[in-house]
Amino acid sequence: REIAQKINVKESEVIKKLIKLKTLATINQALNISLIERVVSEFGYEPKLKEEESLTFEESEIENEADLKPRPPIVTVMGHVDHGKTTLLDKIQKTKIASKEFRGITQKIGAYQVEISGKKITFIDTPGHEAFTAMRARGANVTDIVILVVAADDGVKPQTIEAIQHAKAAGVQIMVAINKIDKPGAQPEKIMQQLTEYGLIPEEWGGKTIFVKVSAKTGEGIDELLEMTLLLAELMEYKANPKTLARGLVLEAKLDKNRGPVATILVQKGTLKVGDFVCVGAASGRIRALINDRGKRLKEAGPSTPVEILGINMVPEAGDNLIAVKSDKEAKLMAEKMLNKKKELQMQRMKKPTLSCFVQGTNLSEVKELRLILKADSQGSLEAILTSLAKIKEENVTINILSSGTGGISESDVMLASASQAIIIGFNVRPSNTALKLASEEGIDIRTYRVIYDLIEDISKAVKGLLPPKY
Ligand code: GDP
Repeated sequence: REIAQKINVKESEVIKKLIKLKTLATINQALNISLIERVVSEFGYEPKLKEEESLTFEESEIENEADLKPRPPIVTVMGHVDHGKTTLLDKIQKTKIASKEFRGITQKIGAYQVEISGKKITFIDTPGHEAFTAMRARGANVTDIVILVVAADDGVKPQTIEAIQHAKAAGVQIMVAINKIDKPGAQPEKIMQQLTEYGLIPEEWGGKTIFVKVSAKTGEGIDELLEMTLLLAELMEYKANPKTLARGLVLEAKLDKNRGPVATILVQKGTLKVGDFVCVGAASGRIRALINDRGKRLKEAGPSTPVEILGINMVPEAGDNLIAVKSDKEAKLMAEKMLNKKKELQMQRMKKPTLSCFVQGTNLSEVKELRLILKADSQGSLEAILTSLAKIKEENVTINILSSGTGGISESDVMLASASQAIIIGFNVRPSNTALKLASEEGIDIRTYRVIYDLIEDISKAVKGLLPPKY
C-alpha cells in the first residue's frame, strides 16, 4: 500500500507487478529492499536508498581524482592443469624475493608481492579459474590482470579455453605466458596461432594481447613477463586512494592454535594500520599485528598489499569485506550489518535469472541482456546453434554468449553462470551430478534440449518475454 501511495498508482497495479515478479503479497505485507527496487522500477522509477538505511560500505564510492594514486596491479595465473601455473608462481616468488631480503623465508598467505625496479606486482597465490570464479560468485572481484599459462609443448586445452572465458566474463586484462619453452618439443608459434581463434592476437600480428615466452623451470623470460605486466598496469592506470580508512577483501582465513583467528587481507583502498578498528565479514576487532608474505611485521599496509591480520574475534570467510572504522562500537555494529547483508545476499543469490524471467538490471528503459552458457555434444551442432542464435533479433534485448563449448555441463559452467548471472543451455548433453547439485544450491537455470528447433524457439520466446516458467 505504501508503495502504491508513494508512486501514485492503484494498489492492485502493484500487486499485479509483484505477481509478475513471482511474489504473492497482500497490501499490508512488508517487502524486502531488493523487491521494492524491482517493483518501483517496473513503473519507471529509479529507486534510491535513504542514507540512514543504506549500509556504510555501500555509500558513495566517489573519490576525489587528486587523492587517487597508482597502486600495484593484482594478478591471477590461470591455465590448463600441468601447464606450469604453480611452478611459475613459485619461481617468481623465489627469484624476486629471495635475492633481496632474508633468503627464502617466504610464507604462503594466499598472495605475495614482488618488486621490480621499485615497482610492485601482487600475485594471487591460488592459481586457476575455479577460485577466481568462486570469489566472483560471492561478489568479489580481486584481479586486474590474468596471466594465461599455456605449455608450448602441448597447446590450447579445455581448461585454457575455460580460463579465457572466465577471465573475459570478468572483464579483466589477459596476458599470455607461453611456458616450457626449454622443452625440445616446444612450438610457441602454434600456441599463438591457436589462441587467435579465441580473440587473443599477439601485438606482432596486429592484435592487442601481450605474449611472453617463458620457462618456469629455468627462469628464462620471467623478467620480461614481469616487465610486461608492469607496462600493461601502467597503461590501465590502476589507482586507489591510500589516505582513507582501509577497505579490503579476505583471501584466506583460519583459526591458528597460538594466534587465534587469522585472515589474509588484500587491501583494496586506504591504508590498514596496526591499532585500527575493523569489521571483517561478521567478525570485528582491533588490528594487533600485520604480517606480510615474508613473515615481516608491518606497521601499515596500503592498496594492493596482501597482509595477514591478527586481532579479530572470529574467523571470517574468503570473499568477506574488511572495513576499517573509527571505533570499536562502530566495528561491532558494522559486523552485525554485514551479517544481515550477507544473509540478504544469499537470498538474492537464490534469485538467479531464469530463461523465462531473465531481466537484468532494474530500470525499465535499460537494454535487457540474456546471458547464456552454451554446451553441446559436437562442434557441428554448436556452430549451427550459434548461427541460429545470431539471427534472433529483438529490440532492447541482447543475447550475450559468455561461453560455448562441447562436452557435459560441469561445475565450472555453473560457477561461471552464478558469477555472471547467466543461464545454461545444453544441447544433447547433460549436467554432471555435482554440477546439478551446485546448480540447485546456486539457483541456476539449466535447460537441456535434443532438438535445435526447440532450443531456438525457447530462446526466441524468452527474448520476447513469452516463455512460460519451468517448474
Ligand atoms: P599446474 O598444474 O599448471 O600448476 O602445473 P605445475 O606447475 O604443477 O607443473 C606441471 C609439471 O610441469 C611439473 O612437473 C613441472 O615441473 C613442469 N614444468 C612447469 N613449468 C615448466 C617449464 O617451464 N619447463 C619444463 N621443462 N617443465 C615445467
